[in-house]
Amino acid sequence: MRKLFHYTDHLEQVLPLLKKIEKAPNLSSKRLSQLAKKHPLKNGSLLSKTNIIRAYTGLAGKHGLAPFNQKIVKKIMMKPVRTISGVAPVTVLTKPFPCPGKCIFCPSDVRMPKSYLSDEPGAQRAERNYFDPYMQTYNRLDALQAMGHTVDKVELIILGGTWSYYPESYQIWFIKECFRALNEFNTNDDRDKIREKYKTIQQKLEKDKKHVLSDSPKENKKRFSDLLIDGENLDKKYNETIAELYVAPEKKLGIDVIQTANWEELFKEHKINETAVIRDVGLVIETRPDNISEAEVIRIRKLGCTKTQIGLQSTSDDVLEKNHRGHDVAVTKKAFRLLRQAGFKIHAHWMANLYGSNAEADNKDFDKLFSDEDFYPDELKVYPCSLIESAELMQYYKKGLWKPYSHEELLSVLEHVLLTTPPYCRLTRIIRDIPSPDIVTGNKKTNFRQIAEQSIEKKGISSKNIRAREIRYETFDAEKAELKTELYSTSVADEEFLQYVVETESGEKLLAFLRLSFPKENFLEELKDSAMIREIHVYGRALEIGKKGKNHAQHFGFGTKLIEEALKRAQEKGYKKLSVISAIGTKEYYRKKGFSDGDFYQYIDFSK
Ligand code: SF4
Repeated sequence: MRKLFHYTDHLEQVLPLLKKIEKAPNLSSKRLSQLAKKHPLKNGSLLSKTNIIRAYTGLAGKHGLAPFNQKIVKKIMMKPVRTISGVAPVTVLTKPFPCPGKCIFCPSDVRMPKSYLSDEPGAQRAERNYFDPYMQTYNRLDALQAMGHTVDKVELIILGGTWSYYPESYQIWFIKECFRALNEFNTNDDRDKIREKYKTIQQKLEKDKKHVLSDSPKENKKRFSDLLIDGENLDKKYNETIAELYVAPEKKLGIDVIQTANWEELFKEHKINETAVIRDVGLVIETRPDNISEAEVIRIRKLGCTKTQIGLQSTSDDVLEKNHRGHDVAVTKKAFRLLRQAGFKIHAHWMANLYGSNAEADNKDFDKLFSDEDFYPDELKVYPCSLIESAELMQYYKKGLWKPYSHEELLSVLEHVLLTTPPYCRLTRIIRDIPSPDIVTGNKKTNFRQIAEQSIEKKGISSKNIRAREIRYETFDAEKAELKTELYSTSVADEEFLQYVVETESGEKLLAFLRLSFPKENFLEELKDSAMIREIHVYGRALEIGKKGKNHAQHFGFGTKLIEEALKRAQEKGYKKLSVISAIGTKEYYRKKGFSDGDFYQYIDFSK
């Protein structure tokens, strides 16, 4: 077990360091690491930024230190951008489990859920926590808080393989445990108990010790070294190995019974979270388009989901087929239509450089995302295909059938992506952050986004996508904020993207937005004749619920103004209701704004 750092055991080393930090007017990262080197712990190790903040938070106002000052935390903070969009993201991974897909580009790391790599930092965090949802959520909150972030508004992002393919009882349990961690954070702590449970299970699997996943990524690397799946070694396919390694022993030991919950148990945690200190303001799951049906949409809504990450990968049937995707474009379109009617935010994954495509074809493929009315995603992750040893694509590469794009080709596609994405879509990523040792050949620059952005800047143009316009740390004059609307039409709804923007020295910046949807049809009885708020986002550093800060977009009431505007527009268009796909932890907020609780949505009925 990793030994937790307790600053009280190291006062002699920690206090002089904190005193120097207090006095340092402009503390650069370099200066901070110089100071940390001057004050090592007794065993010679250096204090991480996280532990310095942890110590400062606990010791401020004592032992000759001045009272707590958030500015000091800011000085030390590791990644100030993480909660700049106003919400703390907590990403958790599901356990390794078979996936119905056979996509040739997808890595097969048997220590991970399909498509994830054990070298990725988020994946290692999950592994250190036995992929347990409570431990992952709790420890992430702990780390974010120790880094000085406010964590009372959390977007839970559940990644890993194909969500809808996991047993329903596992899904309910997983989300229930995430919520339990939010609800118990800082008041109750079950982590030791849970860790002990996994340790006991490990001991029971002693005979097979070599392939038992421990909580040490380093140790697991050794234990699983003979189980690497490569493009040549396809007889040991991921699903079979996983079934043998985890699914069968889990059944034998009754782990599948432990990792089970029923709907009532989940609803109980949901209810607690509605008024908890740490609230869930968004819940994201990741799945395949062919797993989306009317019933599935209702089921994931029941789980509390508000957004889906969905792999569309390509808008070409030919490319999907060549990559053994297992479904065609018509299926993707249907999934988009159902999710949009149900009010979900659609976070799509699109890939460049797939087998069977080329840079020119990719650009045309990408254009369809915003010209074909069946698409129009709200957010996008763009993943140029990377060659990973454990993907079937290796064979195609060896036969000379596929090769990675040159720097110029990749740049041309990513520039096109940046410039074509409209103002109502957020380009969350345009390159997957794969550790370079995992990439056999091709681009290894994880800062390619920056390269592409700088390249278009040199040409005097910039991207208009949401991420490029977020206000972040810039100060602004709220009096000059202006309400603008972007209109677009999809096959199932007319969409209005309402946004408060302001001109700053660096151009037009986004302060807040609301996605207002006017459905043309709806399969959900509850949403008949109803307009829909699919998302509200007010930017600014995360503020604690109920608190107001200066210079934050969250301070100026943009959320309320946007809701009022949405109500007005829905009424003018003759809709009988305005519904909202609220997250569990935002229900109270909407109740205060006059919304009533429905079965799966909250609403205001104009006739009452
Ligand atoms: S569906 Fe997703 S996780 Fe499964 S093989 Fe395809 S890309 Fe990988």
